[in-house]
Amino acid sequence: MQMDNLEEARRQAEICNACRYCEGYCAVFPALQLHRSFSEGTITQLANLCHNCRGCYYACQYTDPHEFNINIPQVMAEARQKSWETFAWPGGIARIFQKRGSLIALAAVIGFAIIFYVIRALKPSGGEGFYAIISHATMTSIFLPAFLYPLFSLGISLRRYWRKVGGERITWDHFKSALISAGKLKNLSGGHGDGCNFEEEDRFSNQRRYAHQAVLYGFLLCFAATCSGAVMYYFLNMPGPYSIFSAPKLLGIPGGLLILVGCSKLIQLKLKADPELGSARVWSGEMGFVGLLLFIALSGLLLFALGGTGALPLLLDLHLGAVLAFFLLTPYTKMAHGFYRMAALIRNAQMKAES
Ligand code: SF4
Ligand code: SF4
Repeated sequence: MQMDNLEEARRQAEICNACRYCEGYCAVFPALQLHRSFSEGTITQLANLCHNCRGCYYACQYTDPHEFNINIPQVMAEARQKSWETFAWPGGIARIFQKRGSLIALAAVIGFAIIFYVIRALKPSGGEGFYAIISHATMTSIFLPAFLYPLFSLGISLRRYWRKVGGERITWDHFKSALISAGKLKNLSGGHGDGCNFEEEDRFSNQRRYAHQAVLYGFLLCFAATCSGAVMYYFLNMPGPYSIFSAPKLLGIPGGLLILVGCSKLIQLKLKADPELGSARVWSGEMGFVGLLLFIALSGLLLFALGGTGALPLLLDLHLGAVLAFFLLTPYTKMAHGFYRMAALIRNAQMKAES
């Protein structure tokens, strides 16, 4: 974490600790009150608990032009970003992605789509449906390592995080508490239940919370659809294509629709939100990631809708290119925040149990 932001975060945390007006707003303030001084690890933990709902900013009587110049959402957003960039493995990629995310995501999708086009031109097909275009073996040999790589990379990053915040042995109770909080996205309610302020001044709504929930549950449904397809292929001897009433379709189509709606709303809110209350320098990275996820959902649904047409091969190249870009970029994009948030919630449950 850059020293100036760390010092600024400490200064503001100390004022909040004396003020305590916002203690009911989210998990950050009760956690903050457990400390008298703020190490880099403590600020990192607090920053990863913060959802940038902005409730505390609009409640605060010490924001600019007051001499205290409090802006907790902004200082926490910057500390959070810094922590992800510092812990990312290999180092440096996350920083580059945050600066030029939209361009990198676009280039990765096009570049990987061209690779799939070339693979397709070499005709390693063998099967029905999509596998008549690119064989199942080819898809597996590309996507299995691409799926494992981000898990490995994120595992290293989370280990670094855990050491920095002084995490201890995780029990089922800690994990369960974090899981319930993450599943409900409780802290996105803004504490008062009115949600986040990503619209006009002093206007709160739960739209950001619902958009996050749509993306989260859509993603889980799509993941379940992929797993069900793998079980049917490998264990039930049922290779695709699958009917509309099969598990992959029944899970995948609603999942794709939820991601599409959730990402569209998140982009709309981000375009309206005040950049001064977040980390403005990572705007491109955040937009690049949400745009990539939206494109994956849209192209996946179009593959289903345009199944029998001549557009299918090209659309499949683009869809697979986007999915591959998503996997390989995951450790350096906003996608990583879900893993850090979970770790922060687990650590918070530990600290509450200790206090
Ligand atoms: S954000 Fe402002 S009102 Fe809230 S605890 Fe900090 S200083 Fe007090
Ligand atoms: S922005 Fe929201 S989540 Fe972050 S500290 Fe303020 S009230 Fe809590």
